Amino acid sequence: MLSRNPIQSAMLNEACTFSKDDCIRVSCDDKNKINVGTLAVSRYHQIRRFYLEDDQPEYNDHDFPYAGSKIIPSGYLIMETKEKTSRKRSRSEERQKARETNRRSRSHSPITRKDVDNDGSFHNDKYGRMHVTYGRTGPMNIFNRAGMFHSSTAETHANVFHRILSDNKFKGKTVCMIMSDGGPDWSTKSTKTLIYQGRLWRDLNFDYYAVANLAAGHSKENPIEHLWSPLLKQLVSVTLPITLPGEAIPPSEQNISEEEKKRKNIKVFDSAIDQLNCYWNMTHDGFKVKPVKIACVEGVKVYSDHAVMKEFCKSGIKKILGTRAFFLLKHCTRRTNMLEFVKCRDTQCNHCTTNTVRKTKFMDYIG
Ligand SMILES: [Zn+2]
Repeated sequence: MLSRNPIQSAMLNEACTFSKDDCIRVSCDDKNKINVGTLAVSRYHQIRRFYLEDDQPEYNDHDFPYAGSKIIPSGYLIMETKEKTSRKRSRSEERQKARETNRRSRSHSPITRKDVDNDGSFHNDKYGRMHVTYGRTGPMNIFNRAGMFHSSTAETHANVFHRILSDNKFKGKTVCMIMSDGGPDWSTKSTKTLIYQGRLWRDLNFDYYAVANLAAGHSKENPIEHLWSPLLKQLVSVTLPITLPGEAIPPSEQNISEEEKKRKNIKVFDSAIDQLNCYWNMTHDGFKVKPVKIACVEGVKVYSDHAVMKEFCKSGIKKILGTRAFFLLKHCTRRTNMLEFVKCRDTQCNHCTTNTVRKTKFMDYIG
């Protein structure tokens, strides 16, 4: 199964790209936490700048992080396939092309690699098999949260996804495919992942919703992995402040009440995330990187029952069978490294009879 895994995700990527008007492809990953109060990223990152003599950077002797003083970035890359821009042909190239077309129409020769390359939508592999060309870059959303106040869980991802996918630009999309490296928040073996991702499928009315984990050792094939390096490069030599303006000691080390410490830490981390977002306000491969702050004191969330759900998922599959979560189990196919939610044909199913499957190229393909 392990060796089949990259093929499985490649097939899904190709199918989604072939009907790209209906589908969204998202690559997700969390990054190593960003330090606050000491060097944001390790001192071993290479500095690619020139310094004048006697103007070299000065670091502290140690870059031990303060306890709990980290920012957790969660990345969501909306993968797009760039249209191939056609180069204007010269007059001799036009004549050559016309001759080739005439010759082919007379001899009825099959489509060749050269033909499909001109369009850019397809390509041939080394065995001559035709594949749909799919892009691995696109607009990137990074949601930054302070580790002292929020953790990264299946619920936080579901809340962020609900926010991203509710955007008007995704209106009318009927299929969503999520690719991740199978970390604990995304593991397809986890019942919590099944429930939260299933809720998104149900609440956002997708006809087909898949979470594809890359098997162990294949995480480098997750497209988002290639974006972290240029992002971290922006933070070389940067120290995000852990003190309030005018103060020399971090709130956690001050001799003040716990209430006051918390109030000050909220200000410190909200400001540190704002500064981090300024460094990451950039483009990559022509696409915008959009850093978003999750405030230390978060507002109303779509899903906010993580503690209840954690206990519920411990209770075992037999108990789930008699609950409302059974609806999600019924519509889910769980395979190694893959979760798929599809609408059913049961005439008694309220959700699927009210929100019928829309006729699209993708749904025709999967039957
Ligand atoms: Zn149904």
